[in-house]
Amino acid sequence: MATNEEHLVDWLRDAHAMEQQAETMMTALCERIENYPPVRDRLQQHIAETRTQAQRLERCLERIGGDTSAIKDLAGRATAFGQGLSGMFVDDEIVKGALASYAFENMEIASYTILIAAAEAVGDTETRDLCDQSLQEEKAMAAWLVEHLPALTKKFLARDEVLEEGGKR
Ligand code: MG
Ligand code: FE
Repeated sequence: MATNEEHLVDWLRDAHAMEQQAETMMTALCERIENYPPVRDRLQQHIAETRTQAQRLERCLERIGGDTSAIKDLAGRATAFGQGLSGMFVDDEIVKGALASYAFENMEIASYTILIAAAEAVGDTETRDLCDQSLQEEKAMAAWLVEHLPALTKKFLARDEVLEEGGKR
């Protein structure tokens, strides 16, 4: 049986892995986007936010764990869900990348919502507040993505059709 504090540490570490995965995934997607500047720009902004989010989690872990093992072995934890999403767009187009990104943002929203509740349960207001800052950024990103999905899809289809007619794909 784990204590509530142990659960919180465990979930903070999972969230840190999630943010590292988010950075890898968005960086790969960003490099592939040439014809959709607004999406690329928004992704770049969120990549910067994502690095800050990872640092916030490190701060929480350092404070809670002190010099114990809380902060150790942070690399290499990856959720199966995130890995599945990261693989979705590797050889595919912007539409699937946007789909995967939206799904990922919603996983992050759930993760921070859980962390906030767990932090409240153990009376850790600093962790709660830091996680809430990240939660607001994830919500903003998810909202931006879903708002832009229709235009992005139509632009992809229009471009694809032109390329199809030109015979060069
Ligand atoms: Mg994030
Ligand atoms: Fe995010």
